[in-house]
Amino acid sequence: MTTVPITVAYGDGIGPEIMAASLHILQAAGAQIDIEEVQVGEKIYLQGNTSGIEPAFWESIRRTRVFYKAPLTTPQGTGFKSINVTTRKSLGLYANVRPSVSYHPFIDTKHEKMNLVIIRENEEDLYAGIEHRQTNEVYQCLKLITRPGSEKIVRYAFEYARANNRKKVTCFTKDNIMKLTDGLFHKVFDEIAAQYPDIENEHWIVDIGAAKMADTPENFDVIVLPNLYGDVLSDVAAQIAGSVGLAGSANIGEHASMFEAIHGSAPRRAGQNLANPSGLLLGGVMMMVHIGQPEVAERVHNAWLRTVEEGTHTYDVYREGVSKKKVGTREFAEAVAANVGKLPQTLPAASYAKDRAVSASTAVTVNHAQRDLVGVDVFLYWDEAARNPNILGDALRGLGSEALKLSMVTNRGLKVYPDGMPETFCTDHWRCRFLSPGKVAVPHSEIVNLLGRVMGAGFEFIKTENLYYFDGEAGFSLGQGE
Ligand code: NAD
Repeated sequence: MTTVPITVAYGDGIGPEIMAASLHILQAAGAQIDIEEVQVGEKIYLQGNTSGIEPAFWESIRRTRVFYKAPLTTPQGTGFKSINVTTRKSLGLYANVRPSVSYHPFIDTKHEKMNLVIIRENEEDLYAGIEHRQTNEVYQCLKLITRPGSEKIVRYAFEYARANNRKKVTCFTKDNIMKLTDGLFHKVFDEIAAQYPDIENEHWIVDIGAAKMADTPENFDVIVLPNLYGDVLSDVAAQIAGSVGLAGSANIGEHASMFEAIHGSAPRRAGQNLANPSGLLLGGVMMMVHIGQPEVAERVHNAWLRTVEEGTHTYDVYREGVSKKKVGTREFAEAVAANVGKLPQTLPAASYAKDRAVSASTAVTVNHAQRDLVGVDVFLYWDEAARNPNILGDALRGLGSEALKLSMVTNRGLKVYPDGMPETFCTDHWRCRFLSPGKVAVPHSEIVNLLGRVMGAGFEFIKTENLYYFDGEAGFSLGQGE
């Protein structure tokens, strides 16, 4: 077996202890790895570097393409950027893979048969971080869902299912409300699911889907979902399986991949030989599969299952009557290392076939639809005392042209003009839609001229959103109540 270089960050808080423990176990099981240590996190922040990352870090990752990362502390305060988010996005780590498995009866859980994997889109959605305060009252966060991003993550989920002998992929979205963004994710899911007839597929609206997952997780296998839902639900899944302290995660990209525990740096437990290294170790098991050493992954995983079965537990999962021995981080690592070569006796043994590393194509559909500009949503800050939509609408109506006519005014998405309801609460933020009556293409100059008239009439526009048809299909949603 050739030695594989990996980049390692020992992290903050409990990080150094659980990383030392995990590397000790991996090496005891024969991992052929060459460790390049990098400094990221608290120390670097405290030196005045707000990114928490040294340039040498990127050089190392470009060389090794594999990053094994202990948890990092992001200092409180607006001046510091999260290294996790920077790393995921800078390196294009588009797929976040989080298995959640119950280890009944050895680890306390209400769900004895749970064994699911959450595959979370890792780069887009509300996590694009594009936020603005637009008026005195209104703040916005842009939700960006892209076709390439959705295709890559959904295809990864089906390839993961195939490589790991899983039978079903479930998609959660909220496309009954967000018909364009979540609607795209769902549509791409249906398109790609059709290319995998050997794997069952289903879609749930995220609210009822999440409720079902929390109630009967054994009915789920692989779940693929956009970033925010995935972030929330993967912690729920890990916790109901037994403990967030037991779950590892992989962040997979085309150029590099990162392996970690899902929990944080637990600073209050640091330096006391208390922390459970299992989450980081299981992240390491995924890394061994990824770098082509599945037999090491199998030995480590089975030694760990055997140790859990023997009741050798750290404080966080220790239960009187179930656990046999409460141990610290180092003793737990020694126990797992001593079990290398043994199989679990009750829990199902882990088995990693040679071909288990997932190889998903990241080729995406190239889309050059015919785009026709047919209108504009002009967003206004308007704080006239009565906030009467009829006064605003009547004034704006006169500012339209033959090419672009006022079709409606909405407040927080609800149509308030024409024919609004007097009971509706209105803020100081108004969306005023001007549309081409025949939905025929208009030049951009029509919009510029319209904005000139709006400004001339004393209104303050705070942003515009162009309205397009794509191959004859509207690229914008209706107003609620329209
Ligand atoms: P946390 O996950 O660090 O801790 C939550 C709780 O779980 C604590 O009670 C802690 O004692 C316990 N816990 C967590 N991991 C444990 C383990 N391995 N063994 C035993 N007990 C464990 O979450 P937090 O307290 O919200 O965050 C602390 C810091 O970690 C913050 O700076 C946060 O930004 C950072 N964080 C980092 C990552 C990461 O690097 N991936 C993820 C989450 C949070």
